[in-house]
Amino acid sequence: MVASRLRGLWAFLEHAHNALAASLLRGLCAFDILQHMTRRTLLAAPLALSQAQSGVPLAQEQSQRYVRFRRGSAIAYGLLDGDTITELRGDLFNSPKATATKHKLAAVKLLAPCVPPKVIAVGLNYKSHIGNRPAPKVPEIFYKPVTCLTNPGDPIRIPEDSRNTHYEGELVIVIGKPASRVSAAEARTVIFGVTCGNDVSERDWQGGPEKDLQWWRAKGADTFGPLGPAIVTGLDYGKLLLQTRLNGEVVQKQFTSDLLFDCPAIVSFVSRYVSLTAGDVIYTGTPGATRKMKAGDVVEVEIEGIGTLKNPVA
Ligand code: MG
Repeated sequence: MVASRLRGLWAFLEHAHNALAASLLRGLCAFDILQHMTRRTLLAAPLALSQAQSGVPLAQEQSQRYVRFRRGSAIAYGLLDGDTITELRGDLFNSPKATATKHKLAAVKLLAPCVPPKVIAVGLNYKSHIGNRPAPKVPEIFYKPVTCLTNPGDPIRIPEDSRNTHYEGELVIVIGKPASRVSAAEARTVIFGVTCGNDVSERDWQGGPEKDLQWWRAKGADTFGPLGPAIVTGLDYGKLLLQTRLNGEVVQKQFTSDLLFDCPAIVSFVSRYVSLTAGDVIYTGTPGATRKMKAGDVVEVEIEGIGTLKNPVA
């Protein structure tokens, strides 16, 4: 009898303890969620206003537009908001600080948005570009020299003896931290952001009658790597509309969801063999057909959520 009453009392106490614990847990979770929501709301406030004066680290949880620019003789990174650039101090890939200095976009010269240690590119990465050729089993990687990079607005110069130079509008990955042998899931954490690129290509030197052993000049001649105008972070780069225009006519149009090897797969594959470092860029491949350009043309690569990379041809 006593034992039975004791068991009943124990069961009551246990139930009361569990209910109290659950209620405390609910309270804590609610507090956590509230705290997180408050933080997100604060982060979403106009950063240029909230942080420019304080020099505090920039928030990385929201989408940001980073540019590199020259004003007078000074070159700096900046955070673009509308047509205003907030100048940054420090390394773009290591918590740069906002300064109180602001510039109007129209008052600066935009440069390629970072200075990559290396420029990697992927070929044959859209079915629409491959046509009847067999699809590659792994990403087809090649290098472009860093000297081919071209600022937004600067001319693509067709070499004197070139007869068949084409545009290639592409989404470009910007790496934010060192990566070696990362999985596709881990690759997402080393991708800093994305930008627009034009993988300019001389077809006769690439695979035509004057084919070279490597694509050193076909893909790497000076000015064959327009890049920019901004690196955008926090963007779902898996489904963005990419369009290339030649003299205003849309000549390439494709979603990045049609990439045969998506951005994390490319980064993971490259990192199995070659270490990636902050600032490295990877051109991800071009869709559809391409055409020859001539002096006087204007080529634009526009990617949804990023902007338009526009270059004249000289
Ligand atoms: Mg290409």
